[in-house]
Amino acid sequence: MRDGVLLMIPGPVEVSPAVAEAAAAPPPSHLAPDFIADFGAALADMRTVWGASGDAQPVVVPGSGTLAMELALTNLLSPGDRAVVVVTGYFGDRMIEMLRRRGVEVTAVRCGAGEIPPLAEVARALEQASPKALFATHVDTSTGVRVDVEALAGLARAHEVLSVFDGVCSVGGERFEMSAWGADVMLTASQKALGVPPGLALLVVGPRALQARETLAVPPPLSIDVEAWGPIFQAYEAGTGRYFSTPATSLVRALRASLREIVTEGVERRIGRHQQVAEGFRAAWREMGLALLPANGAFAADTLSAVRFPEGIGPELVGAIRDQGVVVAGGLYPGLERTYFRVGHMGPVVGWPEALERTVRAVGNGLLALGHTVDVDGAVAAAEPHFRA
Ligand SMILES: *Cc1c(COP(=O)(O)O)cnc(C)c1O
Repeated sequence: MRDGVLLMIPGPVEVSPAVAEAAAAPPPSHLAPDFIADFGAALADMRTVWGASGDAQPVVVPGSGTLAMELALTNLLSPGDRAVVVVTGYFGDRMIEMLRRRGVEVTAVRCGAGEIPPLAEVARALEQASPKALFATHVDTSTGVRVDVEALAGLARAHEVLSVFDGVCSVGGERFEMSAWGADVMLTASQKALGVPPGLALLVVGPRALQARETLAVPPPLSIDVEAWGPIFQAYEAGTGRYFSTPATSLVRALRASLREIVTEGVERRIGRHQQVAEGFRAAWREMGLALLPANGAFAADTLSAVRFPEGIGPELVGAIRDQGVVVAGGLYPGLERTYFRVGHMGPVVGWPEALERTVRAVGNGLLALGHTVDVDGAVAAAEPHFRA
């Protein structure tokens, strides 16, 4: 953790000492033997974290979560294809914008802020549009809402539609079983629950999606073509490097360090810890009389909290919390930006109870500084048993 401020936004997040060290070391050659070993191990560990089978292809390219979204859709869909998008916030709308730019015909399934659309509505859209692919955001970072990926993937399968999930705010922090649930693509970025600095786009592409790329009418841009990159990743996993375009070697090293920590702890345990910590934060918010943006606790994400400002308080709270040494984020949902704030609780910080308590205290003291009465010690006491579980 850095001295001074604690970074508790929904990405980038605090990274572990081993990850920081790997990222800061002099950049290795992409063909150095120890780099080849690290990259190969990272790709193999991705399958474990994603719950993916051996015939799924892990993909790691330099870039952002947004690039990962673009990579997914341009490798699956050509202009004129149809897609259904479940929109639970800001990032679903971004997916629609990208699909439209690709010339894809989009049917959106929408809901109110903090809600999720009923499954029956998604089923109806699949029946009416008969699309090639279904897209959904696992955790929409603008609302803190989590959709039921298992149910959506099952629904897509039943309709013989490919399913693609934006897991930028979920992979490594929320339960996901790629092959057991029959999902076709799960994408993320390095700087969220995986606990790596920003700069890597990461996906696991299942066998049906790989087949869709093979038969695609209009190929994707070369720099994000799964067919161009596939043999490279396969070479790294086989222990021999191969060049197509330079990997972000320092970040791949950092990824390797992070995935090692996650797999060593155990994916299930790591996910369970996110759940515990989220319960702790929810207990703290309750104790302080703060309401969540998600309309129902059953679909409130475990990786972040989207918390409504109490009566008489506005976005100035974010600055007041910052004055307490903790950085949180403002709202992001169009039209509601000034009504709530967001606290990220994902990555290695879920194992650092002091940092979590410090965050609760900073929010409470920030509220006090603005003249809003809350019981800060009570909130910490409510959260602490979850943080230390
Ligand atoms: C952060 C985020 C993105 C965008 O990732 P960038 O790296 O900022 O481009 C996309 N989807 C979700 C759900 C996110 O949380």
